[in-house]
Amino acid sequence: MRDSISLPLVVVLTAQNGPKVDVLALRPGVVIYMRKPLTEAKVSTEIANHLESNMNDVIRGETPGSEILFEVIFWRAPFGMFLSRNGKTCISGKYAKYAINPMFEQITGWKKEYLIEQGWEHITHPEDLEEDRRNFHLLETGRVQYYELDKRFIKPDGTSVWTHIIVIAFHEEGDIHDYQICLVQDIQTRKLLEKALEESERSKGLLLSPLPGMAYRCNYDSEWTMQFVSEGCLALTGYTPQDLRWNKRLSFNDVILPEYRDKLFEEWKRKLAFHEHFTFEYEILAADGTRKWVSEHVQGIFDADGGVEALEGIILDITERKKYERELVTINEHDQVTGLPNRSALEKFLYERQNHAVIEAKQALVSINIRNVYYLSKSFGAEYSQGLIIRISEILGSLCNHSCRLFTTSPTRFVYHLESYGTKLDLDEFYDKVSSLLQGLLSIERVGWGIGVLELDMVPEKNVREVLRDLLIASEESIDRFEDVAPVCYFDDEMVLRIDREAQIMRELGGLAMGEDNELVFLQYQPILDLLSNQVCGFEELARMQSPQLGLVPPLDFIPVAEKSKLIISIGYHILRKASQFLLRLKSEGYAHTGVSVNISAIQLLKKDFITNLKSLVVEFGTDPKRIIFEVTESVFTSNFKEINQALAELRDYGFGVALDDFGTGYSSFARERELNINLLKIDKYFIDKLMILRDENTITGDIISMAHKLGHLVVAEEVEHESQKKYLERHGCDMIQGYLISRPLDEDAALEFLKTHQE
Ligand code: C2E
Ligand code: CA
Ligand code: CA
Repeated sequence: MRDSISLPLVVVLTAQNGPKVDVLALRPGVVIYMRKPLTEAKVSTEIANHLESNMNDVIRGETPGSEILFEVIFWRAPFGMFLSRNGKTCISGKYAKYAINPMFEQITGWKKEYLIEQGWEHITHPEDLEEDRRNFHLLETGRVQYYELDKRFIKPDGTSVWTHIIVIAFHEEGDIHDYQICLVQDIQTRKLLEKALEESERSKGLLLSPLPGMAYRCNYDSEWTMQFVSEGCLALTGYTPQDLRWNKRLSFNDVILPEYRDKLFEEWKRKLAFHEHFTFEYEILAADGTRKWVSEHVQGIFDADGGVEALEGIILDITERKKYERELVTINEHDQVTGLPNRSALEKFLYERQNHAVIEAKQALVSINIRNVYYLSKSFGAEYSQGLIIRISEILGSLCNHSCRLFTTSPTRFVYHLESYGTKLDLDEFYDKVSSLLQGLLSIERVGWGIGVLELDMVPEKNVREVLRDLLIASEESIDRFEDVAPVCYFDDEMVLRIDREAQIMRELGGLAMGEDNELVFLQYQPILDLLSNQVCGFEELARMQSPQLGLVPPLDFIPVAEKSKLIISIGYHILRKASQFLLRLKSEGYAHTGVSVNISAIQLLKKDFITNLKSLVVEFGTDPKRIIFEVTESVFTSNFKEINQALAELRDYGFGVALDDFGTGYSSFARERELNINLLKIDKYFIDKLMILRDENTITGDIISMAHKLGHLVVAEEVEHESQKKYLERHGCDMIQGYLISRPLDEDAALEFLKTHQE
C-alpha cells in the first residue's frame, strides 16, 4: 500500500448541467462523471466499463499512473474487490496482494484469511449460488467478458447481505492463468426498500387491480423512472411492471408518443413549481404497436424542504372516450341535410391553416347564397326545399378536388375553399362554372343565388371570424345585386365601410324611433305642376336624414336600412306627422287645396294598425284625406299582392289618393295595373329621359299616358328637367309634371315661398 498517493477517486453523479458541475468534473483525479437519470445498473456498468478498460494496463503495471489509480481504488474504493485466479482466491503470484480489499471484508463481515481459506462459494447464499456458478462458468470458458448479478453473502452471524457484483475476466500475456476480478457493491438498503415497496405494491396492486389503467410512483426525471407500477400496466401498455421499474426494459417516457414527451415534461415542471395537481391527456404506443389515448392525473410528493421527491399518479385508458368524442366532433362538424362539413368545420379548417401551415399558394373563399328557398318551403313544403338543397350540394360537390373543398355554413349557404389558383381570372372562370351548373337547376325553380368571393391574401391580418363575416358581406351584396344572372361580388374594404355606415344609420334611426332626436329625419317638398292650369297643385315629400355623425344622408341610403330593420314603421309614422303638419300650415296660409304626396313602403302598408293610426292622425290634424296621396312603388306588389292591394283599396275608400310610383321599371304591366286600387300613375324617369334621345314617333311615353287615361288614372311625369320634355308631355295630355325644371325639393319655408311666387 502506498500512502503518498494524492489523487482522489471521485465519481460525480449529477442531476443537472451547469457550470458548477462542469468545473467539478474537470478536477484532477475524477474518473467517472455521470449525469442523471441514474440507475444502479447504469452506475455499476459505468464503473465496470471504466475498470475493465483500465484494469489490464493497471495490473500489467505498464503505466505508473494507472497503477497508482488501481492502488487507490483497491484500498479506498467504496466497493469490495475480490481477485481470483482460475476460480480460486488469488493467493500467489504478483497479484496476490490484490486478492481481497478491506471493503470486501467490511461488506461480507469475513476476514481475508478466512476467505482465502474458504473461497467465495462458501459464503454465497445457497439460493444465489447456482446462478453465480452458471455465470462464472460462462466467464471462465470465455463465452462472456463479464457478468453482473444481485446476490447475497452469508455473514459470520448467519444473516445475509444483498450485493450487486460485477465479475470481469482478464489474463496476462505470458501468464498461463486466467484471472477474474469481482467488484461488490452493498445494496442491502436498496433491497430492503425494494422489498418494502414490493410489499406496498402488492397491497396497492390489490387495491388498484380493478382500475382500467395503472398507478405509479416515479422519480422526477424526464425518463419517468418508475419506482412503483401497478399491475394494470400490462393491460394498458403491454409491458409488465417489471419492464418499466427502474427503466429495466424501457422507460415510461419511451412509451409516450414522441410528440408529447417534451410538452408533458415542461408542463410537469410548470405545475410542480406551484405544487399543483394536474391532469394530462396524451397518446402512448403500446407494446403491440397500437396507439392509445390516456388520461393521467398526477401529483408531486414533496420533501420537507419543498423539493420534489417523487410523483404519484394514475394513468387511465380513454381510447374509447376519445373515439366517442371524435364521433361527436364528426356529427358536430357536418351538416345533417347535405352531409357536408359545416361552419364549425370551416372555422376549424381556416384556423388550422392560419396557425399551423405555411401556405405560399393563393387561397380564396367563394360563398354561394341561395335565396327564396323559404318561399319554396312555404308553397311546396320543407321536404321539397330540402331536396333542392341536397341537389345543389351534389352539383356543387362535383367541382371538388384536393385544392377545392366545399362546406355549408347555413341551410342556404355553401362555401368553397379554393387553393393554388393563379389569378383573379381563374376565380372568374370558377364562378362561371358554378353559375352555369346552378343555372340549369335553379332557373326552373325560380330560385336566385349570389356569389361572394374573398381572396384570403387580401385580408392577411384578419382572424377567422372576421374573414367569415367579410365573406358574408360579399355574398349578401351579390344577392342584393341579383337580377337575371347572379353577379359575382368580390369582397373589398369599401363594403365594410358601407356596412359600418349602415350600422351607424341604424343606430341613429333607432334613436329616433325611441323618440330621442325628433329632427334627425326631416322633409323636403318638391312642387308638382298641373299642366292644364299651370298651377302648383301639390308637393311630394322627400325625406332626408341629418346625421350628427354622417352629415346629410339621402333617402336611398337610409330608407332601405329602415326597411330592413322594420324601423320604417315608426320612421314612416314620424314622416306622416310631419307631412300632416305641413298640410295644416298650407291650409292656414290659404292653400287648402294644395296636396302632399307621401312615399310609403310595403312594410308600413302591411302593418295591421296602419290605417287606424292614419285615421287618428287625420282627426288630430283635421286633414282632408283628399289632400294626401300615398305613393307606392311597383315592387310592393312582388309579394303579398292581394293584401297590399286590399290595403290600397281601404286607403282609397277613405278618400286618400294612391299613386303608383316609378311606373315602368318593375314587374307591373297594364294587364295587372287594371286590377290595382290606384288613381294615379307616376311615369318613371326612364321614359322621361328617353324623350331626349328618341324622336317623338319612337317613344312610347305618350302611349303610356293614353293607356293610363283609358284605365281612368291621372298621370304624373317625374324628373322632368328640360323644356322639350315638358312640351312633349303637354302635347300628349300628361296631367302633371315634377322635376328640376320646375323646382328641386325645397325646405318647408322655401316650399311655401315657391307656392306664393308661383301662384302670383
Ligand atoms: P322617388 O319617390 O321616385 O323620388 C324622386 C327622386 O328623384 C327624389 O330623390 C328626388 O329628389 C329626385 N328628383 C326629383 N326631380 C328630379 C329631377 O328633375 N332630376 C333628377 N335627377 N332627380 C330628381 P330622393 O329625394 O333622393 O329620393 C329617392 C327615393 O327615396 C324616392 O324616390 C323614394 O322612393 C324614396 N323616398 C324619399 N322619401 C321617402 C319617404 O318619406 N318614404 C319612403 N318610403 N321613401 C322615400
Ligand atoms: Ca315618390
Ligand atoms: Ca319615382
